Amino acid sequence: MPNNNKELTLSAPLSGPVLTLANVPDAVFASGAMGDGIAIDPLNDTLYAPCDGEVIHVARTGHAVTLRADNGAELLLHLGLDTVELQGDGFSMLVKEGARVSNGQPLLRYDVDKVALRCKSLVSLLVITNGEHFQARPITLKGVKVGEPLLHILAKAPGETQDDDQATGSEVFGQIRIAHRGGLHARPAALIRQTAQGFKSRSRLHFQGKSASCDSVMGMMGLAITEQAQVHVSCRGSDAEAALQALLATLSTALAEEAHAEAPAIKPQRGIAEAGVLQGVCAAPGLVTGPLVRLDGIQLPQDAGGHDAEEQRQRLDSALSQVSGEIHLTLENAKARRHRDEEAIFSAHLALLEDPVLLDAAHLFIKQGSAATHAWNRSIEAQCQVLQQLGSTLLAERANDLRDLRQRVLRVLLGEAWQFDVAAGAIVAAQELTPSDLLQLSAQGVAGVCMAEGGATSHVAILARGKGLPCLVALGDALLAQAPGKMVVLDADGGRLELTPTAERLAQVHQEQVRQTSRRAEQQTLAHTPARTLDDVAVEVAANVASCGEAAQALANGADGVGLLRTEFLFVDRHTAPDEEEQRQAYQAVLHAMGDKPVIIRTIDVGGDKQLDYLPLPTEANPVLGLRGIRLAQVRPQLLDQQLRALLQTRPLSRCRILLPMVTEVDELLHIRQRLDAIGAELGLSERPQLGVMIEVPAAALLAEQLAEHADFLSIGTNDLSQYTLAMDRDHAGLAARVDALHPALLRLIAQTCAGAAKHGRWVGVCGALASDPLATPVLIGLGVRELSVSPPQIGAIKDRVRHLDAAQCARLSAELLNLGSAAGVRQACHQHWPLG
Ligand code: PEP
Ligand code: MG
Repeated sequence: MPNNNKELTLSAPLSGPVLTLANVPDAVFASGAMGDGIAIDPLNDTLYAPCDGEVIHVARTGHAVTLRADNGAELLLHLGLDTVELQGDGFSMLVKEGARVSNGQPLLRYDVDKVALRCKSLVSLLVITNGEHFQARPITLKGVKVGEPLLHILAKAPGETQDDDQATGSEVFGQIRIAHRGGLHARPAALIRQTAQGFKSRSRLHFQGKSASCDSVMGMMGLAITEQAQVHVSCRGSDAEAALQALLATLSTALAEEAHAEAPAIKPQRGIAEAGVLQGVCAAPGLVTGPLVRLDGIQLPQDAGGHDAEEQRQRLDSALSQVSGEIHLTLENAKARRHRDEEAIFSAHLALLEDPVLLDAAHLFIKQGSAATHAWNRSIEAQCQVLQQLGSTLLAERANDLRDLRQRVLRVLLGEAWQFDVAAGAIVAAQELTPSDLLQLSAQGVAGVCMAEGGATSHVAILARGKGLPCLVALGDALLAQAPGKMVVLDADGGRLELTPTAERLAQVHQEQVRQTSRRAEQQTLAHTPARTLDDVAVEVAANVASCGEAAQALANGADGVGLLRTEFLFVDRHTAPDEEEQRQAYQAVLHAMGDKPVIIRTIDVGGDKQLDYLPLPTEANPVLGLRGIRLAQVRPQLLDQQLRALLQTRPLSRCRILLPMVTEVDELLHIRQRLDAIGAELGLSERPQLGVMIEVPAAALLAEQLAEHADFLSIGTNDLSQYTLAMDRDHAGLAARVDALHPALLRLIAQTCAGAAKHGRWVGVCGALASDPLATPVLIGLGVRELSVSPPQIGAIKDRVRHLDAAQCARLSAELLNLGSAAGVRQACHQHWPLG
């Protein structure tokens, strides 16, 4: 029953210390992108309802549940971080969707030890997902017990809406050329909406006599703005000037994946070209065989009309919020796995789901007596038609994203399970598949997909390429006439679907599949042997880890050591500092987990934008240029001393290597050496661990020779080195394409680092993300790098890459790359010199 008093006090769903969202070690939750709320680091094993309400969504993997409180607030209760990856293992959900629950009722139980061991963190969230109507005020930030008052929520006052501000303030205008490849399609439009929403002002785009609000992705796409077109932007409100500048920057910066996007091999033919073969367009390469399986979309029966408008509106709203919750989870997952394409696509879906153009139309159809199902369907179809009539193939393909949302919402309204089951190894045929279909099919292990319609630049195609799932589009309606179950060959590279392959052909394709699988298996087996180039140069392939669990996984994957242990994990998200003994135990656990292999432990790299609750530092205007990394020793010397003391007590010290972040001059290194000597003497030690320096600012690269005189090794942090060399924020979404560590300026710094180290006989490693990029392996080896610290799943592939290279040839060709003018030029040359297998 609706509760007109919008105020509500939520009780604690778990027992444990309370954290603000900003302190949650997850960028999505911490940024507030999922909504306002609070977090608890739980000490108990059951999650309880924080108020009376209705269960409106239960995660398939049992780690999250959404309630609608009686005042309309929708509350996502999410247990742990990245727990979706456990696929339900360790969780038991105690309630079902649609159930009424009362305050304090148990909702889900979990196996604390099992889950804690396998997830990133047990920190659990309570987030208001329809925060546009509500505000949250924490009642306590201390520890709570289940049932104690935790969070106060109240409706937003009308004065807090944007409109008041927009009525006042001046209006400013600007114009800009659109940089987005293919024009303003769904993903850039969603980014523009997000930018506009960061300001109080109301902003609009104007193009060829038409205009659209920046709040509406549909409206902006409807302007059919092409690449390189000039558009006008207007902003009205108190922060209009700032909004305008931000929007102009977003409009004129291509997305990361647009800049790196490889052009798919488009074969123009379609239809039946030769007997038994359907010709289509390659959207993702590959050659596979399997039984054909047909997947059909939802068909609605006739609607007699005359429905109760209020009831239908409520049904639609609740279906929309359920789908929104599901997409949030997909997004969260994509972010956790750093799948930028997936993240951009599903962010755009979320923006479309909230689009006023779609919602207003659906609500209008409902007012006229339509059922929620038909109203949603009609609204989507109307917008699909708009997109298809704009005369842009790219925008026409975005209708597929709308149909994705059509299907998802209809499935909820019709009470159909939104999952479908397709056997692993099948080749799926459909009129058209949507991005969420593709994610499910890929997770179910299908061999390939083909569609009667669709295009090679659609979001489904982008996802298929990202997943390595062979995909053909535009095969024509003949595809749908094929009998399911028959064995076919999908030759995506050749744009062919072979409908009547001979037994010989099937065997040949099967053999090729087996060859590829065994190559991957072989890489994995060989991952445990050290990697040497063809001309016998040894290259160590180590792993970047953040805990002893990850270290154990890295060892199992064949890591030659840990090349970077980021110790920040021990210090953040807590109210008190870990003491010396806790630190010692944590470092010792990683050393144990790595058997007899070396472990490079980096001293704490907080400060800047990574703040610690118990270590207040002054607020800084430019945090990444402020007191971070080793500079912390300047202001908190005792913190670093404590860490060095803990490190010196690990055993054996011969396997423990210490690495210093953000070093810019030799004195910083000498100071730490001196501290190590002094603390070592206090502890009565005769041995000292090796001490290395991170090369992650240009100053350090330029001083490599002087640093190497006093350091035992150098390790290049290409993530920060790119940021500081190119003067581009490494987390800036709009600049991501250009923050490319293969930029020739960085290669020159890497070359200079290796040359400086060589003068003193020191080795150089790379622990930034560039080390995990197989395209960069030959360049790094060529420039003199001898250790690559990569993400644990990449170990086998990078070792395999090393084994196929000739270090002398790499040196010769890499020297030439230093003379190129851009990262794109370097990438192109790398593809030519050292093609990826
Ligand atoms: C780097 O900067 O490349 C690096 C490895 O350190 P982090 O990513 O932790 O800043
Ligand atoms: Mg760094």
